[in-house]
Amino acid sequence: MSRTTLLRVLVAIVVLQGAWVAFTQTAKPPGPLRIEKVKGDLYMISGEGGNVAVYVTGEGVVLVDDMFDRNHADILAQVKSVTDKPLKYVLNTHQHDDHAGGDLKMLPIAEVIAHKNARANLVHIKQPYYEDTPGTPIGLPRLTFTDEASVFLGGKEVRAKYFGRGHTSGDAIIYFPDLKVIHTGDLFLGRRPAPGAAPAPNRPAGVNIYVDYAQGGSFFDWTKTLDGALALDFDTVIPGHGPVSSKADLAAFRADIETMRNRLAGMVKQGKSKEDIVNTLEADYGWKAKGCPPSPPTPGCLQFQQSDALFAELKRSDR
Ligand SMILES: [Zn+2]
Repeated sequence: MSRTTLLRVLVAIVVLQGAWVAFTQTAKPPGPLRIEKVKGDLYMISGEGGNVAVYVTGEGVVLVDDMFDRNHADILAQVKSVTDKPLKYVLNTHQHDDHAGGDLKMLPIAEVIAHKNARANLVHIKQPYYEDTPGTPIGLPRLTFTDEASVFLGGKEVRAKYFGRGHTSGDAIIYFPDLKVIHTGDLFLGRRPAPGAAPAPNRPAGVNIYVDYAQGGSFFDWTKTLDGALALDFDTVIPGHGPVSSKADLAAFRADIETMRNRLAGMVKQGKSKEDIVNTLEADYGWKAKGCPPSPPTPGCLQFQQSDALFAELKRSDR
């Protein structure tokens, strides 16, 4: 090997190593997924990102959400494990990339449907979320709706309903009327603790919600939006994250949000500062604040990083 060739090889090795480090630092490997039956022909895929609903009909499959871009192949494999029917539709509960990050890869094989605000958020903000997959190309849904949209397939109906703002400005509740099941997206997070998690007996009932103000979320509208969902006829709930739950679980979650909001709004009324509010959220509700920079968006710190907007909304309500 000549000196020049050796040098070229060495340079190539260094460049490749650099590229590999850059790749491994930005791309996460997909986590393992599992599928479980919810009711009838409805299944739930979970394990990473948001819960995915799989509704099997005689004419094809309807999905609710599609997790991260990196979960695409595994989601298709999980669907294949319960049916040979083709995937036909994907309904997005909202645009965050742990729920709709797979849209780009779904668009060539299925019709993707989202609330018009969810699509508009993707267009205007140019990112589905903040923390997990910066730079992942966005897939824009081809179909949108304002108040309600239904998919009728194989004699079954899946209905998307919009009840207002909450987690974002484009959260859809997906209703399976034949089964009396809803998928809430991140308007509701499963309340049961993770296995092995320590209980927090000294904490008031708190809700680990994330109000995404940058994408139109509202703490005050959240309960009103859930009231719309609670008026539907259902008994079983697929939350955005966490285990399959009941209508009573959702009602309790809604009551906890109201209690927490009234407490914080009361503090603002008493003239407490934003720091007081943040300290309360950290001490009593488990939000992470210490060590969180105000920006850029940082994993684990997203709630805290929206606290200026949260305080502003609490102040606006102080009339
Ligand atoms: Zn979300």
